[in-house]
Amino acid sequence: MAKVPKYVYFFGSGKAEGKAEMKNLLGGKGANLAEMVNIGLPVPPGFTITTEVCTAYYQNKQKYPKSLQKEVLTALAKVEKAMGAKLGDAKNPLLVSIRSGARASMPGMMDTILNLGLNDKTVAGLIAKTKNERFVYDSYRRFVQMYGDVVLGLKPVNKDDIDPFEEIIEAKKHQKNIKLDTELTAEDLKELVVKFKAAIKEKTGHDFPEDPLEQMWGAIGAVFGSWMNDRAIAYRKMYDIPESWGTAVNVQTMVFGNMGEDSGTGVAFTRDAATGENYFYGEYLMNAQGEDVVAGTRTPLPILKLKEQDAKLYEQLDKIRRTLEKHYHDMMDVEFTIQQGKLFMLQCRVGKRTAFAAIKIAVDMVVEKLISEKEALMRIEPDQLNQLLRPIFDLKEKEAAVKSGRLLAKGLNAGPGAATGRLVFNAVDAEAWKNRGEKVILTRIETSPEDIKGMDASEGILTARGGMTSHAALVARQMGKVCVAGCDELNIDYAKHTMAVKGKVLKEGDWISLDGSTGQVLEGKIQTKPSEVLQVLVEKTLDPKDAPVYRTFEKVMVWADKYRTLNIRTNADQPDQAANAIAFGAEGIGLCRTEHMFFGEGKIGPMREMILADTVEQRRVALAKLLPLQRVDFAGIFEAMNGKPVTIRTIDPPLHEFVPHEEKEQRALAQSMGISYEKVKERVEGLHEFNPMLGLRGCRLGIIFPEITEMQARAIFEAAADTQKKGIAVAPEVMIPLVGNVKELQHQEKLVRATAEAVMQEKGVKFKYMVGTMIEIPRGAITADEIATVAEFFSFGTNDLTQTTLGVSRDDAAKFLVPYVAKEIYAKDPFEVLDRGGVGKVMQIAVEKGRATRPGIKLGICGEHGGEPSSIEFCHIIGLNYVSCSPFRVPIARLAAARAALLNPTAPAKNAGKKAKTSRKK
Ligand code: PEP
Ligand code: MG
Repeated sequence: MAKVPKYVYFFGSGKAEGKAEMKNLLGGKGANLAEMVNIGLPVPPGFTITTEVCTAYYQNKQKYPKSLQKEVLTALAKVEKAMGAKLGDAKNPLLVSIRSGARASMPGMMDTILNLGLNDKTVAGLIAKTKNERFVYDSYRRFVQMYGDVVLGLKPVNKDDIDPFEEIIEAKKHQKNIKLDTELTAEDLKELVVKFKAAIKEKTGHDFPEDPLEQMWGAIGAVFGSWMNDRAIAYRKMYDIPESWGTAVNVQTMVFGNMGEDSGTGVAFTRDAATGENYFYGEYLMNAQGEDVVAGTRTPLPILKLKEQDAKLYEQLDKIRRTLEKHYHDMMDVEFTIQQGKLFMLQCRVGKRTAFAAIKIAVDMVVEKLISEKEALMRIEPDQLNQLLRPIFDLKEKEAAVKSGRLLAKGLNAGPGAATGRLVFNAVDAEAWKNRGEKVILTRIETSPEDIKGMDASEGILTARGGMTSHAALVARQMGKVCVAGCDELNIDYAKHTMAVKGKVLKEGDWISLDGSTGQVLEGKIQTKPSEVLQVLVEKTLDPKDAPVYRTFEKVMVWADKYRTLNIRTNADQPDQAANAIAFGAEGIGLCRTEHMFFGEGKIGPMREMILADTVEQRRVALAKLLPLQRVDFAGIFEAMNGKPVTIRTIDPPLHEFVPHEEKEQRALAQSMGISYEKVKERVEGLHEFNPMLGLRGCRLGIIFPEITEMQARAIFEAAADTQKKGIAVAPEVMIPLVGNVKELQHQEKLVRATAEAVMQEKGVKFKYMVGTMIEIPRGAITADEIATVAEFFSFGTNDLTQTTLGVSRDDAAKFLVPYVAKEIYAKDPFEVLDRGGVGKVMQIAVEKGRATRPGIKLGICGEHGGEPSSIEFCHIIGLNYVSCSPFRVPIARLAAARAALLNPTAPAKNAGKKAKTSRKK
């Protein structure tokens, strides 16, 4: 008989059945509670019901495994023994919390129930024990309120509705003419409990359960149920968390932060989660429960203040902070409660952080010898680097705005960066406005997990309440959004869709700007400008010594270069793009699309003449005009690249892309060329191709019109010769697009080599060059062994290779790809993330066959996938020599390549080329 799995793990009394490594089974929270117990930290006893129960629950029509009940009751008995109290005991009642805890943290997405175990009987016992009637009734009303909401489903119906329990509280406060919840007496709270229970019965038809065991199973069921609520599902989609993981449920002894002024609760990070600075960063509130800090209903105090209030407690907490960092080698996020002067740890997990903080913490921890360089690289998601390249406000413009009285308010700098957009007051509107192309700033009194999609749709988030660890702040930082929180000068009216501040009333649609680094909220639009990294690298207006963020970024790049084996090139058609890419660390150009150059100054005219020419002679006349212009373009690129390899692709798109389609423009062209309008119209129609454009394009153009290839090759080689004569090294690589048959390549290669020989003779210089091809149609890949007899390099054009392998037009795919991804037919948009199972297989065939014929063949990728981390990893695995991506993605590709090398130490495959010497490999 198969062994029945263990479903429940106890922790407490200095020993736990679980540990940190058991995160998959116990969820993050459960595993870390166990770990904290094991390293001697004060944790209230409890038990964890495993994620396997959640999975079984959903697989088995929402029924629990048979053995669960017994295991739960046994674990509960252990907790009761450890605490010397019993669930439901009228004299000495045990109270517990029931919380979710998935493998990956999903802040606020699932449900929690506190103070469970209270009923009309146990209330009396607790009052006798604590001698604090007001506290007990406050706990009771909180419990009934939470239970009513989470388990029994009494919630607001519409987005503008007030919470039904809050409505009852407000009515009571109004009746008594008081403002704060704390002014309610024990008697008032007792009355609220009765009213809450009546409201539950009236509106849901359910009685509030008095039996603590029934309460417990109801709460456990609700927490498992919350794994499938809308916001949890949306969150999982956003962060790629599989549904099959399930959540664990933690049942833990309650400790109270609201037992008086010697009690309190707090949330803290072992370092600053926004900037990464190494100091104790967090907030606490005395005489409060955990949800008060996180929900942002009261603005808490910075943790450093606790030092003044209670030095001993602060010292104990600070010691725990150091113990945790030493133990976990990471920045941790902790929740704690002080009950009548005694400290308890309720949670610890690896802390979420901004990209700034992720990078700074990783780098600092290497310096502090807490982690290795390799670990640091694995802690920074390549796309996080994007945030370092994000715009900041133009300081002068911002100062001017402040001087002219446009500073509306200052809140907490919860998510750095600059954002400007139009005011919206709820998440649904934020999404709708975004969908019609507007930039929005979501402004709320406080956010809740329901707002997650609206937050994602916004440029920035502004809240009137809540601290640095409030929901808005946490989620915004994780999303990389600009956020100003706790801006209590704002008077937000949801019903009217207005915000009053400093005597002004702003309404929905008005522009505002947020500086998430300083917490300033400004009226109107403010120009943004490039980040520190860009100012140092691209604009060269900032000295690295005045740019600490840049210096940290640079360290990461140096380490990435040390461990990556892939070379990183860039796709660039202009000298300034090439220069930017070099500043970002590009080691060559992997794709210069020459056709982009034809749209430059003075070129489109002769280009059109060339296209509309009737005879070879006429075409040659037009090409002669283009030659010197192209030569200048290539010389500019060679100079900018200063000896680094430059892959230049001969003309690729169908010619209709270069001719005018509007009658007015066609008439003007006819006139300038001295031909009839009808003729121009007829030729343009003749050139037309439907999507996907797979007609007269790619190498087919150069075969049908060899003089075009000749002109382009001549321009490339003349520019190479001239540049070399100036003492600047050149390394041109001529690339023929859309080859599917070796004969196509042979034809073009012959032309290119003949032109190179001629130019060398004419100019009296010798230069090195290569001829290669793009692999972007399946026949090219399948016959790569033949193609490699001619090609000295392959560059995978995965935009077209995806189009041709999948039979999906790259220009028309958007219409159905979104639903396709939603239906999980494709895990990701295959034009964004390389389809390893299809396109990837085709690439592997080409790699094997190409290397079989020509072992030293140089292999790269220049489709958009060359800048996407997962695709870069695949390129590493199959042993390409380089990836090529847009200039601004070069830093991302450098880091992604390093991570790919660290994650796949046995790849790349045998014959992969060596990294160029520009890299800093040890
Ligand atoms: C490709 O097809 O991947 C490619 C780089 O070429 P283009 O996008 O210009 O077709
Ligand atoms: Mg292509």
